[in-house]
Amino acid sequence: MNFELQKLVRPNIRALEPYSCARDEFKGMEAHVFLDANENPFNDPINRYPDPLQEKLKERLAPFKHVRPSQIFLGNGSDEAIDLVYRIFCNPGKDNVVAISPTYGMYKVCADVNDVEYRSVPLSEDWQIDTKALLKATDAHTKVIWICSPNNPTGNDFPRETIHEVLTSFGGIVVVDEAYSDFSTNQPFRDLLDSYPNLIVLNTFSKAWASAAIRLGMAFASEEIIGLFNKVKYPYNVNLLTQKKALSMLDDITNVENWMVQIRREREHVLPALQEIPIVLKVFPTDANFVLVRVTDANRIYRYLIEQGIVVRNRHRVQQCGNCLRITIGTRQENNELLGALRFYK
Ligand code: PMP
Repeated sequence: MNFELQKLVRPNIRALEPYSCARDEFKGMEAHVFLDANENPFNDPINRYPDPLQEKLKERLAPFKHVRPSQIFLGNGSDEAIDLVYRIFCNPGKDNVVAISPTYGMYKVCADVNDVEYRSVPLSEDWQIDTKALLKATDAHTKVIWICSPNNPTGNDFPRETIHEVLTSFGGIVVVDEAYSDFSTNQPFRDLLDSYPNLIVLNTFSKAWASAAIRLGMAFASEEIIGLFNKVKYPYNVNLLTQKKALSMLDDITNVENWMVQIRREREHVLPALQEIPIVLKVFPTDANFVLVRVTDANRIYRYLIEQGIVVRNRHRVQQCGNCLRITIGTRQENNELLGALRFYK
């Protein structure tokens, strides 16, 4: 596999002169009077623009993720990183990306927004990737392959060999979205950044870290790729309150560890219980904090659950997911309410 990063980058991005923030220009020097950024001197501390590169947060995060701070991009949710991948690599109306199907919906939405052709390759019935078909769907204009593992909405992790094969056979960018990898026992791919110059791994604070409201997503990649993200992103894309909250969460991760233990334990409780319910036809194996189930009549059961005040995700209209509901693992009480309602359904 021949990988030349700069050849993959859109020419306008390669040539881009990025915006230079007021604070960038004096960086490294001592100062105590800040009259450079047209800020308001009152209402400390939120009167000041936040660190555009979130350096303190990256320093703290790096050891948790076993990467170097320079291999981290932070964004307004991992959805920001997904959009940036298109804006950096894909020429609108000319390039394409390849993804599995079914998978996380934002890969296609961002492709459509950026006017980039989106090619999807169906997973097998047991939700495995047909690597040959995936690679066959690529051509000279394919810039990116999207792999979500554990996959949303199917829940399963893909075998490591499958992802290795894609990474070694494809000369473009491979994004491995590991939003749910903390719930899996598999080793994450971000440990392999130094082996694969074409790898981008996505993580988020929205799942295992239980912080969806602060909107903090992560991309891990080579320093060169992270440099491209930094060049194209909005200057102050992660606000001060989010940076502070993330730092305080990193100060004490015992909560996060406890939540993970509880969610894994609840998953062990919910899966077999679902299997016993007659209207549940199939419970797909999961490595995530949700489970996909095939039921007798997804639309009707979805509406019935809403009447009981319980919301799940109806995936009936998603390709290959006919009569499927995606159910998040909640607290013991929430899970029991769901199970009780499903048992009571007529
Ligand atoms: N990737 C996957 C696979 C997801 O399921 C989600 C959210 N549901 C995201 C990324 C986006 O996460 P964030 O909240 O960080 O934007």
